[in-house]
Amino acid sequence: MSTVFQCPVSIVAETISHLQEGAKRNCETVVLWLGRDVGESIQITDVYLPQQEVSIDYFRIPASSMRLLMAELRRSRTKIVAQVHSHPGLAFHSSADDAWAVVRHIGALSLVLPRFASDTCVADFSKKAAVYQLDATDNWREVQFDHVLQIVK
Ligand SMILES: [Zn+2]
Repeated sequence: MSTVFQCPVSIVAETISHLQEGAKRNCETVVLWLGRDVGESIQITDVYLPQQEVSIDYFRIPASSMRLLMAELRRSRTKIVAQVHSHPGLAFHSSADDAWAVVRHIGALSLVLPRFASDTCVADFSKKAAVYQLDATDNWREVQFDHVLQIVK
């Protein structure tokens, strides 16, 4: 899969700030990146913070929140291209993360930030984030950030 996701730096900044709001409460946080296909690449256009139930090592998007999300996708004519969430400790894809993912199409991305993103900034986001991509066998494979994501102005 060679599709490159183009992510504006403003979206990286907004993502970090949502995750750090969770850090203040010692909770995981999930945001979704919405976007569109533009030629061979995918342009990320919005960060969406779904209503969610969270705790120190857990997040869940209830059905009512999923309905709001689907309405937003129709309104904005976008699709979910990635999910980004924080962990209390290390950044990795847990078995719960594997089993539950709001994005389940081939090529979708899942990013995990360590330590609730409390020590992440725009400049080191690409170093701190662990990036996974759903492959054709429905497995989340870790990939190099730079191979799939390009942070753009
Ligand atoms: Zn997780």
